[in-house]
Amino acid sequence: MKDGIIRRAVKRVALAAYMTDLRITRAVQDKPLYRLCGSCNHCGACCETPMIPIWPKFFYFRTIRWLIKAWHRVVNGFEFLHDDRRLKIFVFRCTHWDPVAKRCDSYDSRPGMCRDYPRNLIYAANPEFIAACGYYAIDHNAAALERSLNELDLPPDTLAEVKAKLYVAQPAPK
Ligand code: SF4
Ligand code: SF4
Repeated sequence: MKDGIIRRAVKRVALAAYMTDLRITRAVQDKPLYRLCGSCNHCGACCETPMIPIWPKFFYFRTIRWLIKAWHRVVNGFEFLHDDRRLKIFVFRCTHWDPVAKRCDSYDSRPGMCRDYPRNLIYAANPEFIAACGYYAIDHNAAALERSLNELDLPPDTLAEVKAKLYVAQPAPK
């Protein structure tokens, strides 16, 4: 459902806080291990089931879990689907996503996490992109790594797989 005036105002304040926090965090944290390559193919996969990482210490805390779910339901229009205990993430369904038109009905007031995806992934040790996503990560030392791998005389399929796993080359489409 499209955001009304009150929800847009609340989201504007939340977005300002989110972006300030993000800029400070990115300024003090280590540089990302990878470059973000590729482009958005507008598949919409990241909008179908938005996923939010939860700080591990909060993951099993019932009150905090409830507050996080309530905030995202009321403010962001995210309906909780399930959690992933291994990855410590909450998985939602976004009520702003129109799967037929493949568009967000409140794009101008989308939350900060939607604006940051998938750039956030290049700060992870092993970025895992959604299979349909047109983006991928490439290691900053990809050229040197690729030269070394090419000298190993591996079969072409294995070489391509190793390069993709080491973020040296674009992964093959799944
Ligand atoms: S708010 Fe919009 S951009 Fe964010 S997940 Fe929902 S549909 Fe996608
Ligand atoms: S999953 Fe990737 S390619 Fe698809 S809409 Fe999201 S950012 Fe774009």
